[in-house]
Amino acid sequence: MNKINNEEIWHDCLESIKVSVSPANFSTWFSQTQLLNVETKDKRYLIEIGCSSAYVKATIESRYFGLIQDSLSKTLEAPCDLIFMVKSDLDTKTYPKKTTKTPLFDKKTNDNEKLSYSFKKSGIRRRYTFNNFAVSSSNQMAWAAAEAVSDKPGIAYNPLFIWGGVGVGKTHLMNAVGYNIIKNKDDALLLFCTGEQFTNDIVEGIRRKTTQAFRDKYRKLDVLFLDDIQFIAGKDAVQEEFFHTFNALVLEGKQVILTSDRPPSEISKLEERLRSRFEAGLIVDISRPDFELRCAIIQIKAKEKGIELDTNSVHLIAGNISTAREIEGFLTKLSSQALIKQLEINEDSIKSLIGKPNEEVTFKIKASPDDVIGVVSRYYSVGKRQLLGKSRARPIATPRQVLMYILRTDLQLPLQEVGRITGGRDHTTVMHAVDKITKLASKDVQTREDIMGIKNML
Ligand code: ADP
Ligand code: MG
Repeated sequence: MNKINNEEIWHDCLESIKVSVSPANFSTWFSQTQLLNVETKDKRYLIEIGCSSAYVKATIESRYFGLIQDSLSKTLEAPCDLIFMVKSDLDTKTYPKKTTKTPLFDKKTNDNEKLSYSFKKSGIRRRYTFNNFAVSSSNQMAWAAAEAVSDKPGIAYNPLFIWGGVGVGKTHLMNAVGYNIIKNKDDALLLFCTGEQFTNDIVEGIRRKTTQAFRDKYRKLDVLFLDDIQFIAGKDAVQEEFFHTFNALVLEGKQVILTSDRPPSEISKLEERLRSRFEAGLIVDISRPDFELRCAIIQIKAKEKGIELDTNSVHLIAGNISTAREIEGFLTKLSSQALIKQLEINEDSIKSLIGKPNEEVTFKIKASPDDVIGVVSRYYSVGKRQLLGKSRARPIATPRQVLMYILRTDLQLPLQEVGRITGGRDHTTVMHAVDKITKLASKDVQTREDIMGIKNML
C-alpha cells in the first residue's frame, strides 16, 4: 500500500470513530495518531498504527482498541490485527487538517457581538463546552443525555436531572448544553442560575411585591438551567414558586435542566410533587472519574493553562488527585508556584507540591493485586482457582474481566502485568477485557454497581 492510501484509510476510519467518541477525546487522542503500514497476511490485514507518545499509545490501546479494529475491518472489508507503536516524529498533519472543527477553544465567537450578548445575558460560561469535556464510563450517560438535550431542547429529555458529588463536572456539562443551544440559535432565551440565586430572586420578589415580574422573567425562557437545586429543599415559598415555574415551562415544551449533589429521592424536605416531576424526566448520575479520565482532564486543563506535562507527570497527578475540581486547583497552584519560585514543572516539583500536607490530594486504591483477587472472588462468590483458571463461561469470565479492569485502571498495572497475575494471559486479552468492561459500565447500571461495590470492599 502506498502512503496516499494509508492516509485515506486512516481518514475514513477516524471519520467513523469520531461519531462514537466525544470531541474532546477525539482531539486529545486520535489527532496524535497515524497509520504507518498495512500488510496482508492470510486474508487478514496487519496494521501498524503510530502514536505520538507511550501515553497516547497506552490510552488508545486500553480504551479504543476494539473501536479502531471494528472500523478498520469495515473500511478494509477484512479482519484486521493491530499493532500500536510509539513514533515521536509523527506526521499527524494529515488528519487534524480535516478536523480543525474541534478546537479546544472556539475563537470565532469572540468576534461575534450578538453571540457575546446572548452568552452574557444567559449567564452561560463559554469556557465550559463539550469540546473540553472528557468522557469515560463515569460520565458517559450524563454526557450523552446532555448532548441529546442540546440538540433537541424540550424534546429529548425533560427535565434532565444530573446528580453527583462535588467537582465531577455537573456545572461544566450544563454550561456545555447552554453553549451549544446558543451556538445553534443565538436568539434563544436561556437563563443559568444556581438554586441559591433562584431563591434570592424569589425572596426579593416577595419582599418588594414584584413576584409578577419574577414570573414574567422565568416563564418566558426557552431553557432554564438550575444548578444545585438541592438548595431550595425545605424552603416552602421557593418550592411553591418553582413548582409553578417548572410546570409552566415544561407544559410549553421548554427545557429544564437541573443539577444536584444527590438524586431527587434523597433530597430531604423536597416536596413530593416536585420529586415526582423530576422523576418523570431523565435522571443521570456522574461518579468519580477513574484514572484514565483524570489523565484526560489533566491534559485538557494543562493545555488550557499552557502547562506542558510529560506522561509521568500526568500519571503522577492523576494517581494522587481524585476529582476534576481538585485537578483544576492543583494545576493552578502548580503554575503559580513555578512562576513565583522560578521552578521547572517536572516530576520533582509536582511531587513536592503533592507532598504538601493536604489530605485532600491523596487518593488511590491502596490494595495489592492479591487483595483485589480476594475481594472480586468473594464479591461474585467465584473461587480464586476458577477466577484465574481457563473457563470461559460467563459467570466466571465476567468477574475475571472486572478483575482485570480494576487491576489495570485502579491499580494502574501495565497490561502485561495484569495478564500475568490473572492466570498468565496475553496482554491483548487484558486489553479486550478492559475495553469491554469500560463499555459495559457506561451502559449497565449493574456493572457500575458491581465495580463500586468491589472498590468499597478494598
Ligand atoms: P460540579 O458542578 O460537579 O461540582 P464542575 O462542573 O464545577 O463540577 O467541575 C469542576 C472542574 O472540573 C471544572 O473546572 C470542570 O471544567 C472540570 N471537569 C469536570 N469534569 C470534567 C471532564 N469530564 N472533562 C474536563 N473537565 C472536567
Ligand atoms: Mg457545580
